Amino acid sequence: MNLKTTLALAATFALGLSAVPAAAQQKFLTIGTGGVTGVYYAAGGAICRLVNKDRAKHGIRCSVESTGGSVFNVNTIKAGELDLGFAQSDVQFNAAKGQAQFKDAGAYGDLRAVFSVHPEPFTVLARKEAGVKAFTDFKGKRFNVGNPGSGTRASMEELLAAMSWKPADFSLASELKADEHGPALCDGKIDGFFYGVGHPSANIQDPTTSCGAQLVPLTGPAVDKLVADKPYYAKVSIPGGLYPNNPNPTPTYGVLATVVASTKTPADTVYQVVKAVFDNFEEFKKLHPALAHLSPENMVKNGISAPLHEGAARFYREKGWIK
Ligand code: GLU
Repeated sequence: MNLKTTLALAATFALGLSAVPAAAQQKFLTIGTGGVTGVYYAAGGAICRLVNKDRAKHGIRCSVESTGGSVFNVNTIKAGELDLGFAQSDVQFNAAKGQAQFKDAGAYGDLRAVFSVHPEPFTVLARKEAGVKAFTDFKGKRFNVGNPGSGTRASMEELLAAMSWKPADFSLASELKADEHGPALCDGKIDGFFYGVGHPSANIQDPTTSCGAQLVPLTGPAVDKLVADKPYYAKVSIPGGLYPNNPNPTPTYGVLATVVASTKTPADTVYQVVKAVFDNFEEFKKLHPALAHLSPENMVKNGISAPLHEGAARFYREKGWIK
């Protein structure tokens, strides 16, 4: 759904008025997220909740849409069918520059960054009985590489290329959506999956609880090279004990989640979104545990490769966070 203004046209005509009173205008704002068990969906819900608190003042009705993930969100914003969306920082970078999965489409010059959010470590989970200790143990096994349109899938492809692996190196390279990979793992339909997601996440909590699924380290020369070559990757560790049956820290690498928009998303709308988040920042951080460690100073600069949206930049300048 696009940003729409619903006008009380019938009333206007009936009364013979030329202008619609401000109170009769309602603007709809839709944020593209990811699967309902991921963090984008919850973080989008948190943003909308804060925006909607002040609806009487600004007239914006914010809602979230569950989607296939980062690449879908960027493409759908570009098509004018979403106003805002979540995107991994690597996806934002590649879309802005017309690289990797955006090579054919070319650089998306109207893409704008709003802020970055939580870290998303690439998270590999193995079936308890799969006998997997390292990512390379998945050779010849059934592995979920993620649905087309997800940032997960885009990053998976970058890793496989760096390892010189092909989908055929797995006995099955399934393309299940994030909401489906945990149940498939516990049902014994796949041996593992890859997911770029914030922590803690219900998506990882469920299979680690219900079938003892194991986090698998993502390390080695290919990861070292990716982190050295790409500005958007960093080494991170998933803390031990965050999930049941996984007491040890899991070394991996990852990106940041970001929120993006288009130059066509109205500046006043984006201004109200960032104002709602940062004026209620303590509340925002409490709405999901993956948001607990955020700071405004980092959110306005880290993981941002597209230019800042003018509505966001206006608010950040007022706060003195940017020049
Ligand atoms: N990073 C994931 C993707 O773009 C989505 C994670 C989430 O929904 O929290 O595919």
